[in-house]
Amino acid sequence: MPILEKLAQPSQARHWTDSIPLEYHYTAGVAGEEFRRELRDNGRFLVSKCSKCKSTYIPARMYCPDCFIEMKDQFPIDKPGYVYSFTSVNRDRSGSDTDSPITVGLVKFEGVKGGIVHLLDMDDPDRVSIGMKVTPSLKNLSERTGAITDILAFKPISTGQIKMTLDDGRADRQSAGKTDEQARSLLHSVEESGYPIEEDEMTISSLRNKLDKGEPLTREEDRLLRRLGDKAREWRKAVKSSSETEPGDTLSG
Ligand SMILES: [Zn+2]
Repeated sequence: MPILEKLAQPSQARHWTDSIPLEYHYTAGVAGEEFRRELRDNGRFLVSKCSKCKSTYIPARMYCPDCFIEMKDQFPIDKPGYVYSFTSVNRDRSGSDTDSPITVGLVKFEGVKGGIVHLLDMDDPDRVSIGMKVTPSLKNLSERTGAITDILAFKPISTGQIKMTLDDGRADRQSAGKTDEQARSLLHSVEESGYPIEEDEMTISSLRNKLDKGEPLTREEDRLLRRLGDKAREWRKAVKSSSETEPGDTLSG
């Protein structure tokens, strides 16, 4: 059939089923490649820091999405991650049933924007909780290729360390006591202030968790809460003063 032949009737149309081989390469970009190289060679996560707004991002990226400027400052992160969110699934990526449920989580790092979605390797999946501190378990250096699968999974930081934190809490229990109510209302005012809590999400959710369970805060947590209260107050003040600014004083767009 000539290519310019016109079909007068839909029934004249014919089709063939076949496949066209396509090959393409995906590049992770300049910063993405550096992130992967650092993961492969040194088993560390590279982050980028914006010189203007001071935000830090994981994985490393080239431009700050808020300031639209290049981020030249990159360094490996040196703190544990925490479980921001998680779910359990009973099927693998190809849709086949798995022998046992797989737990997948979004791991974030305090004070850092972004995160990594990966497997959570727990001896007991029921013990995963929001805010739980985790550390990556990596393939051996010789097996790493610079892929995200160089990370086998994130595992909870040894229970010994977690127990120590709990004991600290208990030691401070007597001194806390009646300040619980104040802490609760201060946290409430932080949450209600509308201040962008992104970098402090982990702190806030773990404080909320503790207060909801009726557990007293440690001295350190109490300090953190006060600091958040100050930030929220500053934020409310700033919002109030900007809403009092005449529209004509502000550049639109
Ligand atoms: Zn920025």
